[in-house]
Amino acid sequence: MGLRFRIAITILVLEACLVAAVLFVTLRYVQQTTRAQFEIGDKVTINLLDDLARIALLTDDFAELQAFVEETRNTTRLQSVALADLSGQVVAASDTGRIGDDIVPNEVVPGIRSHLVPLGAYGLQLGTLAVEFNDGDLQRALNTAYRRGFLIAVAGMVVIAFVSIGTGHFLTRRLSRLARVADRVAGGDMNLRVNIKGRDETARVGIAMNGMLDRLSAQIHDVTQSRDRLYVPTEAIHDGFAIWNAEDRLVLFNSRFVSFYKGVPVDPKPGLKFEDFVRATVSHTVNLNNLSGEEWIERRIAYHREGDSSFEVRLRDGRWLHVDERRMADGGVVAIYNEVTEAKNREQALLDSQDRLRLIMDSVGEGIATLDETGKIEAINKAMEKLFERSTDDLVGRPFHTLFMSRGDSGQTELSKITSGGLTTDGFERIAVLGKRKSGTFPVEIGLNSVSWRGQSMYIASIRDVTEQHQAHSMILHQATHDALTGLPNRALIDDRLEQAISAARRTDKSCAVLFLDIDHFKSINDTLGHTVGDELLVKVAERLRSCVREGDTVARMGGDEFLLVIGDLPQPQDVLKPVRKILLEIRKSFSLQGRDVHIRASLGIAFFPFDADDRTQLLKNADIALYRAKEHGRNRFELFDASMRDQATERGLLEADLRQALADDDLYLVYQPQFDMASGHSIGLEALARWNHPRHGDISPALFIPLAEECGLINDVGAWAVQQACQDLIGWRAGGISVSRIAVNVSPRQLNDELFEQVSQSLQDANLDPSYLELELTETALIRDRQPAARAISRLRALGVGLALDDFGTGYSSLSHLRRYPIQRVKVDRTFVRDLASDPADMAVVRAVVGLSHGLGMRVVAEGIESNEQLTILRKMGCDEGQGFFLARPCRARDIPSLLELVPG
Ligand code: C2E
Ligand code: CA
Ligand code: CA
Repeated sequence: MGLRFRIAITILVLEACLVAAVLFVTLRYVQQTTRAQFEIGDKVTINLLDDLARIALLTDDFAELQAFVEETRNTTRLQSVALADLSGQVVAASDTGRIGDDIVPNEVVPGIRSHLVPLGAYGLQLGTLAVEFNDGDLQRALNTAYRRGFLIAVAGMVVIAFVSIGTGHFLTRRLSRLARVADRVAGGDMNLRVNIKGRDETARVGIAMNGMLDRLSAQIHDVTQSRDRLYVPTEAIHDGFAIWNAEDRLVLFNSRFVSFYKGVPVDPKPGLKFEDFVRATVSHTVNLNNLSGEEWIERRIAYHREGDSSFEVRLRDGRWLHVDERRMADGGVVAIYNEVTEAKNREQALLDSQDRLRLIMDSVGEGIATLDETGKIEAINKAMEKLFERSTDDLVGRPFHTLFMSRGDSGQTELSKITSGGLTTDGFERIAVLGKRKSGTFPVEIGLNSVSWRGQSMYIASIRDVTEQHQAHSMILHQATHDALTGLPNRALIDDRLEQAISAARRTDKSCAVLFLDIDHFKSINDTLGHTVGDELLVKVAERLRSCVREGDTVARMGGDEFLLVIGDLPQPQDVLKPVRKILLEIRKSFSLQGRDVHIRASLGIAFFPFDADDRTQLLKNADIALYRAKEHGRNRFELFDASMRDQATERGLLEADLRQALADDDLYLVYQPQFDMASGHSIGLEALARWNHPRHGDISPALFIPLAEECGLINDVGAWAVQQACQDLIGWRAGGISVSRIAVNVSPRQLNDELFEQVSQSLQDANLDPSYLELELTETALIRDRQPAARAISRLRALGVGLALDDFGTGYSSLSHLRRYPIQRVKVDRTFVRDLASDPADMAVVRAVVGLSHGLGMRVVAEGIESNEQLTILRKMGCDEGQGFFLARPCRARDIPSLLELVPG
């Protein structure tokens, strides 16, 4: 409310109160005095009536009284009069109707005042006078007075109101002019001045105000000037710059600062509140440190309040700002905005490349650790945590070597390469040790690389868990040293076991025994009951043998149906008899094989260390001799070696017996070597080569056992077997869809007789094969002998349609006449000429001559033993027709032929 109205209302209210009070007092006084006047008049009237009534009562004449009443009633306020005698009966009354009634007080009526006056004379009671006065006129007069007074008061008030408003306006007129000027100055108009004439207080205030404004304008001018002086140099600063005062309002800033926040919804201008500024920049900031916008604002304001803060923000346009805020002595804050985009990008690129490196390291399955000069772990990849079941915190800082231990005694030197003193390796080291972790140890292979980085040497270690390789290795080792069927050690392990038993016996001065056990007539079990039953029997025999000896003794399978036992720790040689009897007993008990009871017997040969021999080779040989003797003596028995046996049984004799056994036991088999056409490179045939898998001596070369067979008359059997086996294998391949157009079987000169012809034709018949599939390789000696049976056999075979080749040509007589005389289709140049073909001109000449000669006779030439490409090229150039040798293909088992022929074109 304006001052003017306040003054008007104050005056108005005061005046109203005054008028009301005057009116009230005046009217009150008039009322009281009028009433007092009336009461005096009433008393006079009552006194007159009293006198008249008393007289009337005494005289019993009421006329005078009546007349007085009539008269008075018309001129005064007298309303009614009634006079009662002593008995209370009205005797005279202004209202004659009441005469004779009892005098009773009148009802109370407003405006009517009644008096009841007792009358007496001389101490005597005469009667009662009842008088009523009418106050109605008085009341009406008073009301009129009040009404008029009120109207006068209202009219007065209206007048007063105008007067008071006028007064208020008059009094405040100048003041409001002053106020208007002050308002505009406050609004920033410093050029306005007050213009009030006179010398009163408002004029003085106006003058003072003008002075103040003058001084203020001058000061503002100065401040602006000095601010500008400050502002200009800030423009030269490359960084953004802003000063906020103690009330957190923007005071000073440069255009660089503005450029950072171009586009924010507030204008950076002096007076801008810091909070508003921050609020406006939220949408322009990218990294809010995972805070919500509101949280970020709060945090930012809190930092600002603290002053002395330094942080980085990323703007939406990709720029990075480094903000430094410092509180000044006056409570304001200076903020420097420095663009660090480039540095930040570089840093980010570095972080990215570090991340990528870490990602690569972590994706490597091997453990990787970097070590400092002293061998302490600096950093690791994820795989390390897994490998060692430890956290990164636990691993980093730990000396590397404490994670490992040596692999047995021999591994000590390995471990020493990574112990603190030993980490001096230059270049690369591979170290095999055991890793340690909570769940135990595990084999590891460490690749330790020493590198120099920024002039400091450090190490990079890769750690590979080789448990699986070890397991695979030991599995392979087990497979190689154990028999797949029975799980017993095989021949490969025997030497080792026997050597151990011998050295233990030597140490303890005791004896040990070697036992050869052979199942009697095992082949017939195989033949009648089948190989599956035969295998099952071998497994069960192995189990029973194991049960007959102690833990430390060895039971091995030598191959086929032959077992070897090494029984050590024998105080006396005869102590071996106990287990031997047990063995014989166990073997004789029936075997239940696929629902059938099978009874077998076995023969045993036994030799003792040190009595029969003191080295393992001789010991084995002697046990073998003893076994041979046991078989000779009718089997189903054991025989102890004695020296006389050795005299009788020559090694050759033993081998002969074994070869016989081999034929019976199926220990011979064929391998096949492909022959190729030189021109086309196609495989055109296979040569069958015999092999003997000896139960105790392993594979024996045909170069060794073929002459033996020839000598002991077994060559016919071997030869027959070879032809039959080759025919069977050929049938097998053809059934499997593998076409082999020719198979060559070697024939010994001694074999060349009618029996051979019979065997060959029988085998071909059995296999239902055309004879042209078969070729026999004969040696020159066979032809030279020029025996009748040989010549006949040859021509009969040729007549049958079987092919003939001359083997090993060049080693014998190499006679042209022989070639001519026999129906030979192919000449095989011996591999001794092929061997030195490239270096020996003589060999070259021989081969060239053989080729020319053979071609002249219409024969094809086969070169054997080709071991190099060079040899192959020379032979091809010389016109050699066919070739065979390790360079082209090695001999392989019948079952491998299909896959081999698939690889080479046929
Ligand atoms: P062979 O008839 O001259 O047989 C070729 C021999 O040369 C085979 O030796 C074969 O493995 C070997 N050989 C093949 N390519 C190369 C090569 O590139 N370089 C070298 N260094 N050797 C190669 P294996 O199998 O030891 O046979 C030796 C001999 O035993 C045979 O000489 C053969 O005369 C005879 N033989 C093999 N099996 C039988 C057979 O069933 N009956 C008869 N009576 N004699 C056989
Ligand atoms: Ca041959
Ligand atoms: Ca040959």
